[in-house]
Amino acid sequence: MTLSVYLSACPHCDALHRVHRLPFGQSALCSRCGTPLYHSRMMGVDQPLAFALTGLLLFILANSFPLLALELSGRVQESTLLDGITALFDAGMWLLALLVCCTSLLFPLLILSSMVYLLLPLKLCRPPWPCTTRVLRALTTLTPWGMTGVYALGVMVAIVKLRDMATVTPGIALYAFFGLLLTTIAAQLVFDAHIRRQIFMAVAASHPLPTPAAKSAQESPPTRLQPTALRTGLLRCHTCTLLVHRPDPPTETTICPRCGDTLHPRKPASLTNTWALLLAAALFYIPANLLPVMTVIRFGQGEPDTILSGIQHLIQSGLWPLALLIFFASIVVPLMKLCILTFLLLSVHYHMQWRPRERTTLYRVIELFGHWSMVDIFLISILTALVQLGSLTTVEPGNGATFFGMVVVLTMLATKHFDPRLIWDALEKTDGPTSR
Ligand SMILES: [Zn+2]
Ligand SMILES: [Zn+2]
Repeated sequence: MTLSVYLSACPHCDALHRVHRLPFGQSALCSRCGTPLYHSRMMGVDQPLAFALTGLLLFILANSFPLLALELSGRVQESTLLDGITALFDAGMWLLALLVCCTSLLFPLLILSSMVYLLLPLKLCRPPWPCTTRVLRALTTLTPWGMTGVYALGVMVAIVKLRDMATVTPGIALYAFFGLLLTTIAAQLVFDAHIRRQIFMAVAASHPLPTPAAKSAQESPPTRLQPTALRTGLLRCHTCTLLVHRPDPPTETTICPRCGDTLHPRKPASLTNTWALLLAAALFYIPANLLPVMTVIRFGQGEPDTILSGIQHLIQSGLWPLALLIFFASIVVPLMKLCILTFLLLSVHYHMQWRPRERTTLYRVIELFGHWSMVDIFLISILTALVQLGSLTTVEPGNGATFFGMVVVLTMLATKHFDPRLIWDALEKTDGPTSR
């Protein structure tokens, strides 16, 4: 694969870099904030396409057979992936059912299908299919919301939790699901910036723009490399990473000539939106911890469990590693996200100069691990579908789970709306426009 030298701006601090061809296996990190910018892989279209097609096949298998079977006193209950969603829906928790459906089924399917849609024309040496740039934009947006890995962890937790209570037998779908997890991770790793670049180049070759709305910086790099895109008069496209010259005078909207996305110097109303989402998440965090998330009814008797009492029961049962995992995913991670985002917002508000690199790292941590809190929600969905053994044992979901699901979604949205480049703007001695 050929790779010419071109300009790139760091998504987290706006520093400009010249992107060169790297030796195989090496990564380029931002010299200013340490964010990984690019990883060199000697791969073409074949590998991501093969992974995405295999993933789709495994997705069909994972949804066609039972995931787990539970046996207790001669009674057997089987459960598929879809059963976890319908069980929540039947229990009247449609919002939680919708969340689990989107993150464990719909989005992973859309992510793999979009990859095949984008890569197949490249492989067949055909012009890109219609709406290629829209599909790529959708893929960029959906990627953080596809939670196959977290669901797989939820299944593992369910197996360990039920092991002492009944006999749990893994179904064919479970093996297919773990295969799906591995192929999805592999497909996302190799579907990198250079594959995206190839797709955009194919689009540009098949549909040349008659009058480009904005001039790409890659076509004519500035003679003097400035420290940041904003100070150099460039805008970075969030979807395709293209650098575009800002129009003079700045107009209300600038459209990316490569993918058609709307460009802004900074995320619009970043601080206001992040504060609003963060406050809503903090409010929902209270009922999420006070209301029961699940009730296990054994022989007609059962006490509703909150997140904390569920952890206490795990400790009493001697399941220490599981208790630690749930404590970390359901208590520590959401609290950490709320605290870190509040700290980052305040630090930007008061133009704090203290350790911008470390603050950017904090942002990267919550961006990377924020969605792992969903493990408890997936666990509840799996147990509700699987543990339906009539008078012996049943599991019912509680309203606390819906509030907890909303906390996860709201904190993920708040993280997405926060613009870490604002951390670095406080250090700049410039009056460049920022949207606060
Ligand atoms: Zn950076
Ligand atoms: Zn773009």
